[in-house]
Amino acid sequence: MSTRKLKEETELFYSYLRRNGLKKTYQKDLILETFLNTEGHLSVEDIYALVKKRDRKVGVVTVFRTLKSLTACGIAREITLGDGLTRFEHNYRHPRHHHIICTKCHRAIEFVCPELERIQEEVLRKYQFQPVDNVFQTYGVCEDCLAERPPREGPKHDTDRIFARDAVRMALDVASRFVDFYRSAERRNQDPEGKRVWARMVEEEERQIAGLSGRLDEILRQEKELENAPVFLHFEPRRLEALCPDLAGYERDGEFRMDARASLGLVQALGRASAEFFRTFAEHFEETQGKQVLLAFAGQEESHADAVRQATEQTRGAAEEA
Ligand SMILES: [Zn+2]
Ligand SMILES: [Zn+2]
Ligand SMILES: [Zn+2]
Repeated sequence: MSTRKLKEETELFYSYLRRNGLKKTYQKDLILETFLNTEGHLSVEDIYALVKKRDRKVGVVTVFRTLKSLTACGIAREITLGDGLTRFEHNYRHPRHHHIICTKCHRAIEFVCPELERIQEEVLRKYQFQPVDNVFQTYGVCEDCLAERPPREGPKHDTDRIFARDAVRMALDVASRFVDFYRSAERRNQDPEGKRVWARMVEEEERQIAGLSGRLDEILRQEKELENAPVFLHFEPRRLEALCPDLAGYERDGEFRMDARASLGLVQALGRASAEFFRTFAEHFEETQGKQVLLAFAGQEESHADAVRQATEQTRGAAEEA
């Protein structure tokens, strides 16, 4: 966990204690620290067992009350997984998410889906409700329980990191579609000036892909087995596909010919549409690494066209001077 986040969370907790005339104690600090250092859906008993290893004098009631305070100040979020226990999970700068719960072993899969949320909000509005909070839980039987084998207890991951992982993967998905499109546009373009525009876009996009791959490695290094954790971020794949057009749509008599001006115009339009999509998509999420990834990608998508335009104007200027 980043030290900045930890500092902010400690500050949130202390100011909550001050506002409510509650005392700051070593035990409360210990509970806060234990909670923040443990991923997953934790019951009071889970936290109590961990805290007791560090200080045997801590009582279960203190643990319960402290977790309630952590929930009240936004550090923790209370959930239930159908086993009758109240559970707590990280909330501050973590994406709010939904759960699919196994009714046999009570394991939970976590996921986010902006489209699902948008529909929920629309339904709420139809009944003229102001959205405040939503909990979407689906129950089922997991694959292990279906196969009647002992459920595999995989490692618990930080939802902030796993969301960042999927946000980068989503951006990479779009960027690799675009680079394919630009490559074939470059290869097929019969107009030499236009060809150069697409060649520059290929370079731009390759740089972006390299940057994203580096970011992905960095995220995966933060936590063991993060790479193989189940998909967390779900989206409508057709909406991503739609961002990148089919080159055939720009052909005439089986030939692709697009001059520099038209090529730049198309590059710009595609960049804008992609940026717009990612910005709107990111709106659904709270401040998290994943949201930052999506917004940064949106910004880059928009700046590609300008970079290519500038480079094209420079070479044109140089050619005119010569
Ligand atoms: Zn199960
Ligand atoms: Zn969860
Ligand atoms: Zn966490």
